[in-house]
Amino acid sequence: MRQKLVAGNWKMNGSMQANQQLLENLKQGVTHIQAEIAVCPPFPYLLQVKELLKNTAIRYGAQNVSHESDGAFTGEVSAAMLVDLACTYVLVGHSERRTLYAETDEGVAEKFVVAQRAGLIPILCVGESLTERESGDTEKVVERQLNAVLTVAGVGAFSKSVIAYEPVWAIGTGKTASAEQAQAVHTFIRQHLAKQPQGTAVAQTVQILYGGSVKANNATELFAMPDIDGGLIGGASLKADDFLAICQAA
Ligand code: 13P
Repeated sequence: MRQKLVAGNWKMNGSMQANQQLLENLKQGVTHIQAEIAVCPPFPYLLQVKELLKNTAIRYGAQNVSHESDGAFTGEVSAAMLVDLACTYVLVGHSERRTLYAETDEGVAEKFVVAQRAGLIPILCVGESLTERESGDTEKVVERQLNAVLTVAGVGAFSKSVIAYEPVWAIGTGKTASAEQAQAVHTFIRQHLAKQPQGTAVAQTVQILYGGSVKANNATELFAMPDIDGGLIGGASLKADDFLAICQAA
């Protein structure tokens, strides 16, 4: 039985004051929640989040990481720095990074490897655009995104990672994938991993989250699907009540 995980991706939102309020409310609300919970704030707030989440079961991570280890890379943040701040997770390959910042499958795979080597748990985001879905290419796209990591890291690397299936057309649009649509892609991901040599066990144990307009009113149905192990939550992770209701559903 896989443990459920609900992770909040705050994206470029928050302030010292808003974060404090949100985390105080989360801390009060999580006591009876079974799922693992994590938040991914913007870089400048990781230290604040570290302090506020001390001695709680809520974990945290970053939204991006450099593939370089250190040196003259202005504006970049290394995996070692995230470990220094006691991050558990880091998102790699979020669709906003792929589309707005031209991150390639290979670049994302490199970040995955660097993060994992440093001791972080990468949350690898995959998913198709609307055009790709409409032309029947969903599986092809997701397979290509997975293969980039499989090529450099092998299937074994997925035993210490999380996968998030986030159809681009469902992100921030209020248009969520139906539970059946999401389940179908999650099954496909598991089957693809299982097909790799020595991939069967990993395919069964890796947590696969769904992301894209998850709200309190659709979370229960999504999380009830056999291959959906929780969610990666954007907008609804910024309000404690909404996020807690989603965590409760997991
Ligand atoms: P929304 O929940 O706002 O659609 O965002 C999903 C997402 O991109 C999480 O990474």
